[in-house]
Amino acid sequence: MTTTMVKPHLFIPGPTNVPDAVRMAMNIPMEDMRSADYPKLTLPVFEDLKKVFKMKDGRVFIFPSSGTGAWESAITNTLAVGDKVLMSRFGQFSLLWVDMAERLGLKVELCDEEWGTGVPLEKYADILAKDTANEIKAVFATHNETATGVSSDIAGVRKALDAAKHPALLFVDGVSSVGSLEMRMGEWGVDACVSGSQKGFMLPTGLGILAVSQKALDANKSLNGRMNRCFFSWEDMIKTNDLGYFPYTPATQLIRGLRASLDLIFAEGLDNVIARHTRLASGVRAAVDAWGLKLCAKEPKWHSDTVSAILVPEGIDAVNVLKTAYYRYNTSLGTGLNKVAGKVFRIGHLGALDEGMIGGVLFNVEMALKDCGVPIKFGSGTGAAAEYFSKTATKPALQSAA
Ligand SMILES: *Cc1c(COP(=O)(O)O)cnc(C)c1O
Repeated sequence: MTTTMVKPHLFIPGPTNVPDAVRMAMNIPMEDMRSADYPKLTLPVFEDLKKVFKMKDGRVFIFPSSGTGAWESAITNTLAVGDKVLMSRFGQFSLLWVDMAERLGLKVELCDEEWGTGVPLEKYADILAKDTANEIKAVFATHNETATGVSSDIAGVRKALDAAKHPALLFVDGVSSVGSLEMRMGEWGVDACVSGSQKGFMLPTGLGILAVSQKALDANKSLNGRMNRCFFSWEDMIKTNDLGYFPYTPATQLIRGLRASLDLIFAEGLDNVIARHTRLASGVRAAVDAWGLKLCAKEPKWHSDTVSAILVPEGIDAVNVLKTAYYRYNTSLGTGLNKVAGKVFRIGHLGALDEGMIGGVLFNVEMALKDCGVPIKFGSGTGAAAEYFSKTATKPALQSAA
């Protein structure tokens, strides 16, 4: 990246744009993480995180890692080598979680789904109903598959578990959903929800955030034949976290930033933040429609409100669109991963964004698409988004002068 007067337009689904208030909150001298004062920062952060996950019990861990570390922590603290788990794979992130589970020694009952679809509720219900011996110890669901822009119905997974009266733990990957999409851990009976700092929390990468229910904590205590763990151990964390400290050096700057980002989320109102994501995503989808392009997500029920993966027409290489956007228009879009490489480009629309920023990226995408040979009418997508945003605006158009 070269130094320019204008900030590059960052529209990848993480890291997301860091608000100035968050960036400035991290621009402080290094601090003493064992001081008597430090818990005044950390204890409220732990409590406030519970509100973002909408938990009814349990606790939140903050690891100095990326989201992948929180994935690993969820598994190694609750399951034993050889345990059977139910998982589904329909994009690069759900694929990597399956890969991790296998490498850690779990026996994965796998639903391999078409990319562009999500967690297969009927199959899950079927498999759980048949598992009368309760061999399945945990059910995994990727809430928002970032590679394909697919959201799945976590309440539906809970229903499948309840219908089968199945006691398995429910693990959810919420890395690209928590703080942006509805996440109701308590109501949905989610036992471990994985997140990270660089998506909905609008921070740099470096925190693995893991919310766990009381049931998961109990599973951790009663576990036989445990998996080896050290850095990601819950036991070590609990001992020190209760007093506001950590078993090793926490990412102090990032936790300051997290405080600021939580303040911003609560100032806007978590539900308003979620509604804003739906609104901005709807504008993007209106543009995609107007361009005559299709999303990778096969049906509206899979549409993600944090990222759209857009298929380029046959004969066009999505990599060229990405490169053109980057070099010509100073705009970073998400690349196509694995099976959809070259076929899709992604617009990340989560975090600190508003209509004007979405309009900007759509404008740049229109040019990049046209430059690469996609027959786009300039103004078609941006116009459709403008139409949608102005028609559904909730703020008054005019205000009387004070
Ligand atoms: C980004 C992401 C991850 C990986 O998180 P890292 O912070 O890169 O380790 C996992 N799952 C989903 C759904 C993601 O979007």
